[in-house]
Amino acid sequence: MAGNTTSIRLPRCAETALETIESAGFEAWVVGGFVRDCLMGRDPGDLDIASSAPWERAASIFRKAGAPVFETGAKHGTITVMIEEAPIEVTAYRADGEYTDGRHPDSVRFVDSIEEDLARRDFTMNAIAYHPARGLIDPFGGQNDIRNGLIRCVGDPRTRFSEDALRILRAVRFSAQLGFAIEKDTRSAMEDLAGGLSRVAEERKAAELQKLLCSEHAGDCLMGNMTVIGQVIPELAPLQGFDQKTPFHCYDVLEHTAHVIDLVDCKPALRWAALLHDVGKPETFTIDETGQGHFKGHPAASARIARDVARRLRLPKAQTRDMLTLIELHDSPIIPKKPQVKHAIHQLGDSPDLLSDLISLKHADATARTPLYSKPRIRTAELLEGLLTEVLENGEAYSLAQLDLSGASLIDAGIPAGPQVGRLLEECLDAVIDGKLPNEEGELAGFALSRYREDARA
Ligand code: ATP
Ligand code: MG
Repeated sequence: MAGNTTSIRLPRCAETALETIESAGFEAWVVGGFVRDCLMGRDPGDLDIASSAPWERAASIFRKAGAPVFETGAKHGTITVMIEEAPIEVTAYRADGEYTDGRHPDSVRFVDSIEEDLARRDFTMNAIAYHPARGLIDPFGGQNDIRNGLIRCVGDPRTRFSEDALRILRAVRFSAQLGFAIEKDTRSAMEDLAGGLSRVAEERKAAELQKLLCSEHAGDCLMGNMTVIGQVIPELAPLQGFDQKTPFHCYDVLEHTAHVIDLVDCKPALRWAALLHDVGKPETFTIDETGQGHFKGHPAASARIARDVARRLRLPKAQTRDMLTLIELHDSPIIPKKPQVKHAIHQLGDSPDLLSDLISLKHADATARTPLYSKPRIRTAELLEGLLTEVLENGEAYSLAQLDLSGASLIDAGIPAGPQVGRLLEECLDAVIDGKLPNEEGELAGFALSRYREDARA
């Protein structure tokens, strides 16, 4: 098939990889998201190459050329090659085999042509190949769909979603990242077949959800795709249309959630916390005699539900821990004063980053409500942001590590080793944070020894 004349600037490592395979007598193309992103003028992500070389041959060609090779997905025909320290995935031309479980093809069939390889890809915008000398191959009108901002399946959407239901969630994720609309037939097949997502491995869904959450149009995407997203996280379904019956909230819980997601920084734990921070509201809802709604205890209820969601989706442990902390504390006030800010960092495991995320969540939570009532909470969040910056810029102590006194020096001064040493250090830190003592070894040691003697007398 003749290519066209559009030219893409490839990084040198990509040109080297293509030349290395082709000089051994095979054919190779850059494919997938890299080509799509370059055509859109976006920063491209990972580099994928499709090639006529069987993976074992590709591996030996690159090894002979001195490039490290990892057999990352050999059973699907994929190896990862390191060229100039950049990882490049090289996959043999393949067509998907039969799917009996709607999860992974039972077998992979290797094919001879790039056109057959492109035909098994999910969306037209992802089924374009590029070569610096031969130009673009675009058998399904991907460039046209990119120009029109449309996500469209390659082939019959019902067949493609029945083969692999993850593609339904991928369509939603791409619409969140690219701001594209979903073509009508593709959309109606997605809605009809969304139930198939229950057969897809949780880790695959989690990876797509995370990309969705960390994208520019995540909030709109959540609002417009609850049929699909509600299949993966059914706990979110009750938020849609949930009237909070309070003057503080002008949105239902789902719309409030969508705004909060868009307002917080794009960090995984924080975006997950934004998604799930109010998921416990429906079950804690009560109405008082004036007809006003209340959600007492909703942060703890949300955290409990979020823990189940994270466990099911097998989210990473550290990310889950931070997400749960943010959800549990999102509605607990922090007084906007320096000592309280330093105590808060210490209570959050000496993590200024986690406090910064918590303030960001509070700021967003305050902003996404009735404007008339949002000002005081927004002001508090701004003050907290300013105080946190000051604490860090001045190098003010908030942790035991920054204290000018160590456990060892207390033991040297005669205090027996044991938990009491830790408690005395904590008391010293509290006194420094509260401005009662300078962070100076002599003063701190004197204070600790006198506290030790008082305890011994008691
Ligand atoms: P990203 O920028 O997030 O990496 P991408 O388009 O490169 O986006 P990948 O998940 O890296 O997405 O997949 C690379 C390519 O493989 C896709 O562009 C698409 O051509 C194809 N692909 C990936 N997953 C599927 C799938 N489930 N079904 C069909 N084709 C797929
Ligand atoms: Mg990719």
